[in-house]
Amino acid sequence: MASALHNQALTDRVLAKRDALISLTQDLIRIPTLNPPGENYRDICDYLDRRLANYGFATQLIRAHGTPGDSDRFPRWNIVARCDGPHTGDCVHFNSHIDVVEVGNGWTHDPFGGVLIDGRIYGRGACDMKGGLAASIIAVEAFLEEHPDFHGAIEISGTADEESGGYGGVAYLAGKGFFDPSRVQHVIIPEPLGHDRICLGHRGGWWAEIETFGEIAHGSMPFLGDCAVRHMGAVLDKFETDLFPAMAKRHTDMPVIPDGARHSTMNINSIHGGQAEQTDDSTGLPAHCVPDRCRIVIDRRFLIEEPLDVVRNEVTSLLDALKTNRPNFDYALRELNAVLPSMTDKNAPVVRTVSAAIADVLGRAPDYVASPGTYDQKHIDRIGRLKNCIAYGPGILELAHKPDEYIEVDDMLDSAQVMALSLAKVLLH
Ligand SMILES: [Zn+2]
Repeated sequence: MASALHNQALTDRVLAKRDALISLTQDLIRIPTLNPPGENYRDICDYLDRRLANYGFATQLIRAHGTPGDSDRFPRWNIVARCDGPHTGDCVHFNSHIDVVEVGNGWTHDPFGGVLIDGRIYGRGACDMKGGLAASIIAVEAFLEEHPDFHGAIEISGTADEESGGYGGVAYLAGKGFFDPSRVQHVIIPEPLGHDRICLGHRGGWWAEIETFGEIAHGSMPFLGDCAVRHMGAVLDKFETDLFPAMAKRHTDMPVIPDGARHSTMNINSIHGGQAEQTDDSTGLPAHCVPDRCRIVIDRRFLIEEPLDVVRNEVTSLLDALKTNRPNFDYALRELNAVLPSMTDKNAPVVRTVSAAIADVLGRAPDYVASPGTYDQKHIDRIGRLKNCIAYGPGILELAHKPDEYIEVDDMLDSAQVMALSLAKVLLH
C-alpha cells in the first residue's frame, strides 16, 4: 500500500495536468463519433492509439465485423490498450464508449467545438462520456509517471456502439475473451454518475413488439370488418387496469436513481395502426378503411428481483386472456431484445478500492447507486463473466443526451484523482 506521502504526490501530479486534461477532452469532442450511423470510430481509435503508445501501451484496433450497423462505410472500430508493469499482479481496466448520440435541437454552443467557458467544456459527449474517458487517461498517465515500478497491468479501452446496445463494442470484445477474469480483474466504466457516486449496476430491459389483427373493410361499414386498433385499445386497457398498478407496487433493493425508477416500469415506445401517416407536405385526404393491423413496441424495465420469464409471462398471460374472452382477438408478439439486470456486490474489491479512494479525495463516503437504464456492464457481466465491475466517472447524468451538454473541469480532476489513487491501491504492493 502506498504511503500517504506517495498518494499526495500522485494526486498533485493529476492536478498539475489540468491543461492537458482540458485539451484532451476538447480533442475527443472535436471528433464527431455520432451513433447512428457510427461515424469516425476509426479516427478516434487512431487518436487514442497515438496518445497511449507514447506511454508504452501495446494497442489493438479491433473491428467488430458483422455486428449490427457494421459496414465498410461505417466500420465498428474499437481500441484495447494494455500496459504491463514490471511485476505480476492484477489488471485494472477502464472502459469508455467512444460513440455519442445525435445532436438534437436547442444548442447555444457548437456541439463539436469543445469550447471552454467558466470551467465547463461544452459539446455532444462532453459528459457522456468523453470527459470520463479523458479523466481516466490523465489518471493513468499520472500514475505511470509517478509509479513506473508497479505490479500488474492497466488497460484502457474505447468501444463502439454503447448508445445502440454495445453489440459492436463491449459485447463483441467480451465474446473474444477481452473481459475474461483470467486477464482482467477490475473494471471501471467512467460513465457520468458523478465524482462522489459508485454505480453498482443497472435494471434489466425487455423490448417487444405486439401486433393485433383485424379485417379491412369500408370505413362507412366498420361492422363488415374488424378493427385492429380497437383490439389494441383492449390491450392498452388491460395494461392500465392490471399491469401498470401491479408494476408500481414492486420495489427493488437495488439503489436505483432516480426514486421513480426503483420500481418496475414500462414505456409504450410507439403505436401504429391503419394507413401510414402522411408526410407534412401532403394535402391528400385519407381513404376510408378499417385498419387490419396495429402494432405497439413496449419497453419494459425490470428489477433484479424479477426473473425475465415472469416479466414475459405477465404480458403474454394478459394477451392470452383477451384471446379467450374477446371475440376475434388475436395477437403476435415478437421479442426485440432482452437484457438482464446486473448488480455488483457492495463488498466487491473494485467497490471497496474506489470507495476508499473517494474518501481520500473528497473526505467522505460515496453514495452507492444503480442505473435505471442499462450500460455496457451487462456484457462484461454476462458474456465476460466478470463480476468485479462498476461505473464511476465525472459528470451530471441528467445532462446526458441534452442540448448544451457539458463537463466541469474540476469534476473531471476529482474523478481523475480517485482513479489514480484506485490504481495505487491495487497495483502498488
Ligand atoms: Zn454513456
